[in-house]
Amino acid sequence: MNCETARQLLSEYVDGTLSARNVFRVECHLAACHTCAALAHDLRRTVGAVSRLPAIAAPEGFAERLARRLQSVEPAPRRRAWVASLVEVLRPRLVPAMGALGACAVLAALLLLPRPSPGPPPASEAEQQAATHRLQSVVLSATDPFEDLAAANLAAHASTAEQTAGRVQ
Ligand SMILES: [Zn+2]
Repeated sequence: MNCETARQLLSEYVDGTLSARNVFRVECHLAACHTCAALAHDLRRTVGAVSRLPAIAAPEGFAERLARRLQSVEPAPRRRAWVASLVEVLRPRLVPAMGALGACAVLAALLLLPRPSPGPPPASEAEQQAATHRLQSVVLSATDPFEDLAAANLAAHASTAEQTAGRVQ
């Protein structure tokens, strides 16, 4: 038994209302723990001192007056159910849980959404060259619309052909 558990049981131990098993466990702890033993001693002395005080009788009609006053106190107005549930959801201790729930929802959406197909198979070298030439044509026409596009394309194709020939050698 640790100190926290022993201290929770000390009041019942001093009052003599603890089960025999717990009395044994508390006494084992008190034999080993000087701090809790001192606390039990102080508690026993305090209970003894209070029990020796003279009993004071309540004034006549005290119980009836107390009951009337308690009835006259209006209960706090009940909050609307949706306000209470909103307050419950936004309590600080639930914010991490709500964040984790949101992250799970995003992850599930990412996993369940249809993904785009992986695309066409890798193109052959000739197809890659054709794509490169188309791209170069577009780039040339976009950079200088007044240039002779046919001549520029021819020059670009010639340089690409030289590069390809260089790679082959
Ligand atoms: Zn202790």
